[in-house]
Amino acid sequence: MDVPHLRMFIDGEWCDSATGETFEVHSPATGEVLATLPKANREDVRRAVDAAEEAQPRLARLSIKERAEMAVRITEAIRPNIDAWALDLTLEQGKPIKEARLEVSEVIPNLLWNTEDLKRLETPVLEGYSKPEMMYLLRREPLGTVGVITPWNYPWLLPGEFVVQALICGNAVVFKPASATPISAVHFLEAMQHAGIPRGAMNLIAGPGPTAGMELVENPKVDGICFTGETATGEEISHRAGLKKVGLELGGSGPLIVLDDADLSKAARDIAFGCYNNAGQVCCANGRILVHEKVHDALVRKVVEESRRWRLGDPRREETDIGSMNNEPTLAKVERHLADGVGRGAQVLAGGRRVPAMPTPLYFPATVVDGVTTDMLLGNSETFGPVAPILEFRSLEQAVEIANLPRYGLSMAIHTANIKRAFTLARDLKAGQIVINDPVLYWDYNHPWGGFRRSGIGRVAGRWTIEAFTEIKTVILNVGESPDGAS
Ligand code: NAD
Repeated sequence: MDVPHLRMFIDGEWCDSATGETFEVHSPATGEVLATLPKANREDVRRAVDAAEEAQPRLARLSIKERAEMAVRITEAIRPNIDAWALDLTLEQGKPIKEARLEVSEVIPNLLWNTEDLKRLETPVLEGYSKPEMMYLLRREPLGTVGVITPWNYPWLLPGEFVVQALICGNAVVFKPASATPISAVHFLEAMQHAGIPRGAMNLIAGPGPTAGMELVENPKVDGICFTGETATGEEISHRAGLKKVGLELGGSGPLIVLDDADLSKAARDIAFGCYNNAGQVCCANGRILVHEKVHDALVRKVVEESRRWRLGDPRREETDIGSMNNEPTLAKVERHLADGVGRGAQVLAGGRRVPAMPTPLYFPATVVDGVTTDMLLGNSETFGPVAPILEFRSLEQAVEIANLPRYGLSMAIHTANIKRAFTLARDLKAGQIVINDPVLYWDYNHPWGGFRRSGIGRVAGRWTIEAFTEIKTVILNVGESPDGAS
């Protein structure tokens, strides 16, 4: 079968790169070449930024009603394609089809929620404090031209949180998805084109992060950068972006802390869900399991039992719970972390090795590792694979110390029957989100999302997304005296 050639979208046209260079997208699930795409260089990105800059003032002058209706039309263009686009997502990312279907379909309510946030956006009018004849009218205005850079682990959910939201706030957008998963991004643009977005207001580029992505970060005509990806990349972007408004959604190594009074069966189910969903390639995965020594043995038994229920297989099959991992460097990192742990005395109780005789070497099963300590990579960094590393603690103070040690602070979870202890921990844990009696992997449309420390800068979701893509302008009005002296 011929491999389809997909294109970038710049200034309202589907196009190739100026050099004609292309790259291939390989399926981690089947090994086949799914598509070729243009490989943008810095010149292509500059063209997209110029188109966006030109389109932005026209976009910003559309009424909120017109922009909100545009978002609704985009959701209507996605709806009939959920099944087909979920299959493409599974093929390019490797996740099970049931997760893929949920991911594509969730873009719709999420976007509609933000559209309502935009409609209901309120800004205050303030009385002058030292000058009572003055009034201050606060307005929320678009940033201007915004670059959105996204990773490969959620190729619909993450752009679905940002790109159209940036647009309806009045920003023109240049969107750069990860090179491993650009097919979902092309489909998203197809939906936007179908919905009739203004020419130049939304541009899609495909290409390498260090050149195409970095051109967006450094281009002086870009006013804002919304980046989701690794902490190391985020740090480089924050150094290179200068005075642009930068939002950073970065890595995590979220601990799930099990106290000695927790419901261990519920904790074990939540541990498996937060460790193995999307093969553990989740910023808010249960990165580490911290368990009180009194319930350690009982919990470990239950976690091993739960882990065996997670069926690995062809991600296109409905019964599959763990598909392929997305790429070799990510899986090689998982193996490096496991080898380091085992070398320092940790024990693998389930999984731990690639599954042979699969269509690609990227299939890795649910893995439980006990005896993990904070000097191991499994115990102090982001592993990003289907692994449950178990660490033991003796006191609440020690649990807090271990949890906060890697200085990631995206999402953390506590399992306990005692609400007072839960709140003591919620106070002392340093993270943007503390989940009580559920997995670290917790997300909704309407509560603020973002990290402390090495997990990022800024908050999104719900009305916080609208705030992130706009800035405040104060219009100062003298109501005491008109310029010609007339009252
Ligand atoms: P990554 O940092 O390697 O790449 C992310 C994106 O940035 C890709 O589009 C890539 O091409 C681009 N990029 C890479 N180098 C760049 C550079 N120098 N300049 C500009 N752009 C560049 O991350 P990844 O491996 O794709 O994603 C996994 C990471 O993302 C994990 O650490 C995960 O925790 C994190 N993540 C965080 C969140 C969150 O909400 N906090 C959500 C999802 C994923």
